[in-house]
Amino acid sequence: MRFAEPFKIKMVEPLNIISREEREKALETAGYNPFLLRADEVYIDLLSDSGTGAMSDNQWAGMMLGDESYAGSRNYYNLCDAVKDIIGYNYIIPTHQGRGAEKILFPLLVKKGQYVLSNWHFDTTRAHVDLAGGHAIDLVTDKAFDTTAPYPFKGNFDTDKLRVTIAEKGKENIAFVLITITNNSAGGQPVSMENIREVAAIAKENHIRVFIDAARFAENAYFIKKREAGYENKEIVDIVHEMFSYAEGFTMSAKKDALVNIGGLLAFKDDEELYTLARSMTVPMEGFPTYGGLAGRDMEALARGLREGVGEQYLAYRIGQVEYLGKRLEEGGIPFQTPTGGHAVFVDAKKMLPHIQGVEFPAQVLANELYLEAGIRGVEIGSFLLGRDATTGEQLESKLELLRLTIPRRVYTNNHMDVIADALIAIKERAHTLVGLEFTYEPPILRHFTARLKPIQKE
Ligand SMILES: *Cc1c(COP(=O)(O)O)cnc(C)c1O
Repeated sequence: MRFAEPFKIKMVEPLNIISREEREKALETAGYNPFLLRADEVYIDLLSDSGTGAMSDNQWAGMMLGDESYAGSRNYYNLCDAVKDIIGYNYIIPTHQGRGAEKILFPLLVKKGQYVLSNWHFDTTRAHVDLAGGHAIDLVTDKAFDTTAPYPFKGNFDTDKLRVTIAEKGKENIAFVLITITNNSAGGQPVSMENIREVAAIAKENHIRVFIDAARFAENAYFIKKREAGYENKEIVDIVHEMFSYAEGFTMSAKKDALVNIGGLLAFKDDEELYTLARSMTVPMEGFPTYGGLAGRDMEALARGLREGVGEQYLAYRIGQVEYLGKRLEEGGIPFQTPTGGHAVFVDAKKMLPHIQGVEFPAQVLANELYLEAGIRGVEIGSFLLGRDATTGEQLESKLELLRLTIPRRVYTNNHMDVIADALIAIKERAHTLVGLEFTYEPPILRHFTARLKPIQKE
């Protein structure tokens, strides 16, 4: 059955549509790096799902009820109630975004030289493990690297690798285990309840603490309901409660499933001592612990967003829209990571542009062509992002060359999804004529944000 958006549009934001010639000029000015485009030069912006969602009328109404008291704002208590109801944790600290929570928590858990084991560390998460003196190790299942294998939980830990790594490194050298739900870096792929349970059991046997990176917790719960036996008749909130019951705390970027443009959370189930420590560290870094870098009105929007984000009709629409785009691409013969994940479709540029080698950045080539074709901005997840070997300086080749089309929440309609699919299908016809890219400017660190490129001229 056709499933349309479960909302009416009350306010609109006009989109700027510029001509093909203007886009050619804009891309050249941006050094063939879509990060350097002005947002006004983009028609459909699929750079990120982080903080790019649309708030509801209910959230906007809440914004008018901000209590901007320095300490003990009523919105803080509303936020605590929402977290208790939805997740079941008692001790809550708001932060300005997810990385704020990581910055407070990780130094409290990591001793110098210790390891943090995750299915996959998000990039700021990895950076905060490093900054705390630790080493981040990713232990995702190998199935995540085969874009065509129809495995329902490609975000899972490889539990054999987890056991082996704990034995090899020694359990006393593991600071904690971090379960990322959904697994952003693997393509918004979910982690099954069975896997969460098993990872927690392995950690418990070894007296290792378990935390959750909860940015896309609601999407993960929805996938469990749809894909895991025994959960099909459960309420989303009950699935969320069970997921979090296996951990003792979480960090959360509220800019994803909590449906706000800015905000984050750090929370603990029952460890009052750790909570007290974290609270005191919040003061110098984020602010007084009842506001943690957020205005009262932002906390109200977050409290309401958390409740909306676990709504089943909303999630069916959300995941359904990503799936819809995937289905259109499949019909058009465009290769992508299957099944589609929670927040994005990852087009397999290695398969679509087999004549362009990894070191000439096929997914960046595809991103640029998609912009020229239809004003759509996606983002490269491949060798361009990966960078060079730190010691040899050699360009590394990524296992996957993906173009990520990240879908903001409640922002675009399925008509926009059709425009995206049509554009990629049109590009497929002339894919063999596209050429690779080379640097004209390469910054030494985090180069993908500011690097400049040009198409390689071959005689
Ligand atoms: C976005 C994200 C973060 C970081 O959160 P920010 O709000 O961007 O600071 C951490 N982990 C995951 C999985 C994320 O997706």
